[in-house]
Amino acid sequence: MKREEDGDETVASIVHRRVEVSGCPHCRSDEIVGWGRSDGLPRYRCKACGKTFNALTKTPMAGLHKKEEWLAHAEAMIDGASLAKAAARCSVHATTAFRCRHRFLTALSSDKPQSMRGIVEGDKMFVLESFKGKRSGLPRPSRKRGGQAAKRGLSAEQIPIVVVRDRQGATFDAVLPKLNRASMAAALGDVLAGAETFCCDGGTSIVACARAAGLPVHVLSAPGGSRPDAPQFHINNVNGYHGRFNEWMRRFHGVATKNLPNYLGWRRALEALGQQASPRRWILGTVGLGPYQQISL
Ligand SMILES: [Zn+2]
Repeated sequence: MKREEDGDETVASIVHRRVEVSGCPHCRSDEIVGWGRSDGLPRYRCKACGKTFNALTKTPMAGLHKKEEWLAHAEAMIDGASLAKAAARCSVHATTAFRCRHRFLTALSSDKPQSMRGIVEGDKMFVLESFKGKRSGLPRPSRKRGGQAAKRGLSAEQIPIVVVRDRQGATFDAVLPKLNRASMAAALGDVLAGAETFCCDGGTSIVACARAAGLPVHVLSAPGGSRPDAPQFHINNVNGYHGRFNEWMRRFHGVATKNLPNYLGWRRALEALGQQASPRRWILGTVGLGPYQQISL
């Protein structure tokens, strides 16, 4: 199942890249010396702060066992294998595979572009929070009929998500606690600051945020509904992303709201890596060297 690029690389040799890039995880100094081995990884000591560490220290992957299975796990995630298939490939129980998968996604869920360029398209989408398809053994209690959600008059909730995407393919997304301007502004932060133009279908929150970032806003009536005199202004790319996300999400048969950022990160990483996706790059993403190269963890 190995892909060519991975050759004989081990997890230890792949994650060593983090030491090269970030130096000491405690103080960022790069004055470090070898200090034996632990947990199957070389250990280092920082001359500046005196602390020891390995390549996984202060990453979500620290302390996760079975490194020999990580490449197979990464491959299963790139392929979008079901939990049952991923568990079989990695010779672990589905519960273990589920936990492992979410550890893999912790860093990727925050690996987002920090800025956008040129024409940026934005739109919201909704994901139905569903509890169908739950397999026994997953570490999530089922919400029984007549439980909390039903008291509020909802058995499933529509979770709003904002997606903005520039024409180079950089994609930023976030789950919104509520669909209002304050939530939208908090989610988007400064990501639109360096863009030139914003295209959307006219939601008041998103329009307000784009204007606050100083962008001219082109409101389009419908997907594909660009004006003949300005065909470059459309939201086909962000809507295409929504379509691919929703299609890809179907295999999970509904996900818990708290895990939704992880699934967004998974899909975002797949799209950002594209043909370059490999278990090696996926493992790098799990330690903060994802496709958007945000190394702060
Ligand atoms: Zn240090």
